Amino acid sequence: MVKDKGIEKKEMLYEGKAKQVYVTEDASKVIVYFKDDATAFNGKKKSQIEGKGKVNNHLSSLIYTYLEGKGVKTHFIQRLSDREMLVKAVTIIPLEIIVRNVAAGSMTRQLGVKEGTVLKKPIVEYSLKKDELGDPFVNEDHIIALEWATEEELNKIRSEALTINKLLIELFSKAGLKLIDFKLEFGVNKDGVLLADEISPDTCRLWETRTGRVMDKDRFRKDMGQVSEHYEEVLERVSKVLAV
Ligand code: 5GP
Repeated sequence: MVKDKGIEKKEMLYEGKAKQVYVTEDASKVIVYFKDDATAFNGKKKSQIEGKGKVNNHLSSLIYTYLEGKGVKTHFIQRLSDREMLVKAVTIIPLEIIVRNVAAGSMTRQLGVKEGTVLKKPIVEYSLKKDELGDPFVNEDHIIALEWATEEELNKIRSEALTINKLLIELFSKAGLKLIDFKLEFGVNKDGVLLADEISPDTCRLWETRTGRVMDKDRFRKDMGQVSEHYEEVLERVSKVLAV
C-alpha cells in the first residue's frame, strides 16, 4: 500500500486499456493511474506511447480544473503524481458521448462526408461502451428504453457535452489548435451526473489551426510517427494558455 499525499492506494478495482483504477481508504474516492499503453481499432492495434500516461494525466488535470472553474461538474479532485489522479468514485454510464465540429474519422467512413467538412452545428452522438460489439451507435430512445441512463440524466449529459464543447473550442483555439471532435464519459454519484474519464489527445482530434497538422491519437492510428512529441506539444501549448 502506498501512502501518497495522505491518500492510501489500495487494491486495483479495474484495469482498462489506458488506465487502472485503485480503491482508497475513502469509499467515495478512487485513484486513476495513467498507463503508456495505446490501443486502436477496438483493441486490434496495440502498442506503447512513451510518456503518454504522464501527458494525459497532466493535461486532463489542467482541463478538468479549467472546466470546474467554468461551472462544469467533474470527477476530478487533484493530481497526485505524474501518473496518478484522485477522483470521486462514480458509477460510469456505459456510453461514449462523441461531439463533432468537423467531419473526420468514423463519420467520414460511415456517411461518406469529406474529411475536414465544417459542420453547420455540433453533432452529439452516443455509442454503447462494449468492446465485443465494437461500441455500436445507439440513439436516445435506446438509452432510455434499455435504462443505461434516465431521461433526466441524458438531458443533462447532452447539455453538458455541448457546454464542454464551447469551453474546449475556446481553450484549444487559444493554444493554436482546432477541436475537430472528442469523446466524453459521464458517471453518477450521490450528487448526480459528473464528467468522468479523461480529456487528452487520446480522446480528442486536434489539428494545428495554422497548418492542419494532426496533433492527436490519429498519429498512432495512422502510423504518422512522433506521437509522444505531439502529445507533449499539446500539453505545453495548453499549459501556457492556462498559466496566463
Ligand atoms: P470516431 O468515431 O471518429 O472514431 O471518434 C470520434 C472521436 O471520439 C475521436 O476524437 C476519437 O479519438 C474519440 N473516440 C471515439 N471512440 C473512442 C474510444 O473508444 N477511445 C478513445 N480514447 N477515444 C475515442
